[in-house]
Amino acid sequence: MNSVSIHNAHPANDVTATLAEHNISPTSQRLQIANVLLNEPMHLSADQLLEKLRHAGEKVSKATVYNTLKLFVERGLIRQINLDPERTVYDSRRATHHHFHEVDTGTLWDIDPDDVAFSRLPQLPDGMEIAGVEVIIRVARKVQ
Ligand SMILES: [Zn+2]
Repeated sequence: MNSVSIHNAHPANDVTATLAEHNISPTSQRLQIANVLLNEPMHLSADQLLEKLRHAGEKVSKATVYNTLKLFVERGLIRQINLDPERTVYDSRRATHHHFHEVDTGTLWDIDPDDVAFSRLPQLPDGMEIAGVEVIIRVARKVQ
């Protein structure tokens, strides 16, 4: 997987190339959705993305948004974070990283992978190797 700097905004003409790199044919709706997601690293639910697209005057159906997000996740263009059974967030920062999750609001903050270290990991099941480790640290506002 190619690593992309989080500060590296994707110019519009690069979006088609980025889709091609991930084996995604660039239909106009996929381009619209990729333009929003890849403009800057962001965490969005499908509904928030739909709202953003409609606000920008795009005519897309909810089904299209869901199907496109599923495809983008399958092809490694974005990452899917399952916060709880009812809430899935899509993350357009592709490099491995961790998250703080504010439980009351659902807000996510990125944690730099260098800021987390493991002193001990459990023994892996036989024949398995680690494919990835992602940490979600749940946080709540302190009661004053
Ligand atoms: Zn993130």
